Amino acid sequence: KEGKGGSNLWCFFSENMTLAARERIALESRLRNALAQGHLQLFYQPQIDIASGSIIGCEALMRWFDPVEGMISPGRFIPVAETSGLIGPLGAWGLEQACCQAQSWRDQGLPAISVAVNVSLHQFLLTDIVGCTRKALERSGLPAECLELEITESALAERPDEALVVLRNLKNLGLRLAIDDFGTGYSSLAHLKRFPIDLLKIDQSFIRDIPQSADDMAISHAVIAMGQSMGMEVLAEGVETAAQLEFLRQHGCNFYQGYFCSKPMAATDFEKLLRGEAQRLMQQGPEAEIFE
Ligand code: C2E
Ligand code: MG
Ligand code: MG
Ligand code: MG
Repeated sequence: KEGKGGSNLWCFFSENMTLAARERIALESRLRNALAQGHLQLFYQPQIDIASGSIIGCEALMRWFDPVEGMISPGRFIPVAETSGLIGPLGAWGLEQACCQAQSWRDQGLPAISVAVNVSLHQFLLTDIVGCTRKALERSGLPAECLELEITESALAERPDEALVVLRNLKNLGLRLAIDDFGTGYSSLAHLKRFPIDLLKIDQSFIRDIPQSADDMAISHAVIAMGQSMGMEVLAEGVETAAQLEFLRQHGCNFYQGYFCSKPMAATDFEKLLRGEAQRLMQQGPEAEIFE
């Protein structure tokens, strides 16, 4: 192989790229089939009110169960959907599925909670996200105020003026808006104050090293104070320890999500959790006005 130098190197990279491209195309067509054949499922992770310890909502997180490969994580297939145009149908399916599930829990008289659905960059900027959301609400019968859409900071930073128009139209439907992974993107505070945002979700990378990292504690504290002073609520993602939760409680953070309470779980398991929560609230007496 020596002596041919440059051309060999070129061949190496070129073959590699073809392989990556081929794998991508293969994954894309498998994903298309998975959607058609019902191999996609939503998992749900509870969101907890830090002051009361009650479940106030859940985040819907997509899972792909491949008959051969097993579970494929959204970190792997959402990017493929994003660049292939599949994110439109995939996102529409997820939205409607989440709304129908939340409405079904309401119909069963379980404690009233909201459901949060992730919206990715292309889904937000390139698909009819407003029409899709309206349709999901209509078809499921879920009241808009029970739905929250999570948009990443980077999606808003990309084209802030267009983003503002879409956010206002979504807000007009009556739902709640959250910024996901807050602190990891490049959104300017000037834009942030114009956006009609209800909830800031502090990215888990800032929570992970609490209480060891003084920097991360300072950042989390600052985000809580800033968000709340701008009229938003604040949720901490990726809470795994009692010490992290205690820090957040001391600094008045509103909500948390994380393995410390529970991993994301299948709808049937989440339903059991809600039944347990219903019993717990009942034992607390009628002044806990969580029931509908
Ligand atoms: P995300 O929206 O920021 O979701 C939080 C991720 O953190 C989830 O990973 C969740 O399982 C994980 N997580 C929750 N608590 C903890 C914890 O205590 N420790 C650790 N280490 N991780 C925790 P997941 O489910 O793999 O989702 C990854 C990302 O994929 C999501 O990040 C979201 O950006 C995207 N995604 C998931 N479902 C959908 C969907 O239906 N539509 C779109 N567009 N994107 C989705
Ligand atoms: Mg999210
Ligand atoms: Mg996040
Ligand atoms: Mg994320």
